[in-house]
Amino acid sequence: MAMADMRPPIESGCPDGFQYMHPAMRRNFGLWKYHTDPRPGVLCHVAESGETVYTVKAGTQRILDLFSLRELTSIGDEFADGFIRFTIRSNIEYTVTDEAKVEPLIKALEDKGYVVGGTRNSITTLSHTQGWLHCDIPGTDASGVVKSMMDEFIDEFKSWNMPNRVHLTTSCCQINCGGQGDIAINVQHTKPPKIDHSQVSNVCERPSVVARCPVAAIRPALVDGKPSLEVDEKKCICCGACFPPCPPMMINDAEHSKLAVWVGGNHSNARGKPTFQKLVASAIPNNPPRWPEATAIVKLILKCYKEDARDWERVGEWVERIGWPRFFELTGLPFTKYHIDNWRGARASLNASTHIRF
Ligand code: SF4
Ligand code: SF4
Repeated sequence: MAMADMRPPIESGCPDGFQYMHPAMRRNFGLWKYHTDPRPGVLCHVAESGETVYTVKAGTQRILDLFSLRELTSIGDEFADGFIRFTIRSNIEYTVTDEAKVEPLIKALEDKGYVVGGTRNSITTLSHTQGWLHCDIPGTDASGVVKSMMDEFIDEFKSWNMPNRVHLTTSCCQINCGGQGDIAINVQHTKPPKIDHSQVSNVCERPSVVARCPVAAIRPALVDGKPSLEVDEKKCICCGACFPPCPPMMINDAEHSKLAVWVGGNHSNARGKPTFQKLVASAIPNNPPRWPEATAIVKLILKCYKEDARDWERVGEWVERIGWPRFFELTGLPFTKYHIDNWRGARASLNASTHIRF
């Protein structure tokens, strides 16, 4: 193909958000005086100019079908000012400048079955990734976990009864977008990958796969005269990092891919440094379609947090104050040897090099 015929690349970065903003927000950008919370699910921002903007927040299922999307945008056209945005936790927000529009907008949303809430000290929508749709390595369905759990927490989404804001997260593999939340529900592989040797030489670049393993557990091997790979199962930490570059390294397993619950993660904010989450329950059955075992554990942790935490303490701050032994006492979750991070199998540097491998 001649150079002149080649299609130019399409730049598909993040578009400028200002073009989609409500004009009142554009006018007052960076010039806000204060905000109040008139009721759950509604924020009121007052600008230095005196202009007031109301935001109404409702939960969505994140993966929106066309029907729901049209319904939500029609509500925006009819009952709000025609501007919407989605938050990072998949809540939809409508912006209006007229207070009289707030209640009719909430009624229109609730009449269609949407739930208004998720502000201040509530449990806001569980955030998740959804590998089934766009990614090559998922080990579980994350949307289903979100739906099952949020059905249980709907009253906490609609009210302000928690000590502070609660962010729940879930992720569908063990290594990438994994959640950093007050409580995270993440997939946990418990067995090394099974290798489909007949496929490795057709599908995988063996050096890339070997380089992917954080603990150097993969070696090139000849199997039945064909180039393949082998795994030192004593070293393998069942992370699943070899599965994306080499799908024949089959790590997903209906029985042995489980869920784990982690607690206390937080990004840094004005009050504190970032905190890592810590494992509190592992090997929970990955049990679709309602995940009752994982939901029961999250409910239990939230019940103890609600009863025992001080006002405005986040989940991680509460656990740090009372101490981990007390956390396990209060929740009654079993503390096992698997909660102790005593692993010594890493190469000195793990895979800490700055090289990016694809
Ligand atoms: S969590 Fe893992 S499987 Fe899910 S979307 Fe992110 S990288 Fe893909
Ligand atoms: S699952 Fe992780 S530790 Fe095990 S072989 Fe694959 S990359 Fe290495």
